[in-house]
Amino acid sequence: MAASVEKTSSLCKTSAAQLLLSPGDSSSACSNNKTCCAAKCELTDYDYLPEFLKDNEFILSYYRSQWPLKQTLLSIFSIHNETLNIWTHLIGFFIFLMLTGYAASVFPITAGNHSPLIQPNSSSSSSSHAVMIPSSLMLFDGGFYRANYTTESSSSSSALPQQLSVSRWPFYLYLAGAMFCLLTSSACHLLSCHSSATCYRMLRLDFAGISGLIVTSFYPVVYYTFACSPFYRNLYLSSITVFGLAAVTVSLVPVFDSPRFRPVRAVLFACMAASGIVPIAHKMMVFGNRPEAVLTTGYEAVMGLLYGMGVVVYAARVPERWFPGKFDLAGHSHQLFHVLVVAGAYTHYLATVVYLGWREAEGC
Ligand SMILES: [Zn+2]
Repeated sequence: MAASVEKTSSLCKTSAAQLLLSPGDSSSACSNNKTCCAAKCELTDYDYLPEFLKDNEFILSYYRSQWPLKQTLLSIFSIHNETLNIWTHLIGFFIFLMLTGYAASVFPITAGNHSPLIQPNSSSSSSSHAVMIPSSLMLFDGGFYRANYTTESSSSSSALPQQLSVSRWPFYLYLAGAMFCLLTSSACHLLSCHSSATCYRMLRLDFAGISGLIVTSFYPVVYYTFACSPFYRNLYLSSITVFGLAAVTVSLVPVFDSPRFRPVRAVLFACMAASGIVPIAHKMMVFGNRPEAVLTTGYEAVMGLLYGMGVVVYAARVPERWFPGKFDLAGHSHQLFHVLVVAGAYTHYLATVVYLGWREAEGC
């Protein structure tokens, strides 16, 4: 690890004293609000931070403050109080990149006529066919999803190609939204310490990423559930899109950044997420007797629980509130929030695989 984990606000104060003693020699000295002396940057305490970096008074030490861009970028490989915030979402990004690559080999992005997930059911003389989701698409849980469908209107397999031409862009849009959110969040945590202007821009990007994740989460849910009901499909898709754009717009108001608006930010994003309850409730009213509807709703409930827990932890700032300074490097609320977000996004990915398999098998 490149940077030593020392609390060096005292170092910079000492250097400032040296500056007073030797005013002509400033090459190796620091000022009170700068933590880089020559090429060496040191970590500092909350009390020495400029206002724009004061976000959580229960995290007392190991801050980077106004480091040059090069040192800020290299700090991805050093230990400070943002290291795990950066890596929890960067690892999440790579997980979703891997899922996207593998999914693309199973579900080519351009819908084809012969999905490898669709297999004629040889045991049946009717038009029954089965959807099989490879266990490798269900990374981590090794789950296996299989359902048989019987269509009354078609009696030969020649009808299948047209039925199976289902757009896959909502599925990939969600994966792109998840990767964008995780990557922008990681970049925000890495770069925000550089300067006030950088912090402002990165926070904008972070909010845009969160809004993007929430909005794109609903696209596969709504698109595949209401693929055969264009009115409801368009109504729900346009509603969540407008809501997402509104959230991004509100996020652009500078006053929204201050720590006292932390609960407002949390509530805003929670409300946007909660708006997805309407199409999901509608799905259960229409398709409540279908195993795919029950399974996807189960995944969505788990996702909601994980995101909800994340929002509560984020807003309450626990456990560091109870033991200030004890969770500076590991275990503080924002790290827990990040892990819960990745877990929630992965749970939703499992649901989108089921949605896509369901619609590819059944068409309209
Ligand atoms: Zn974060």
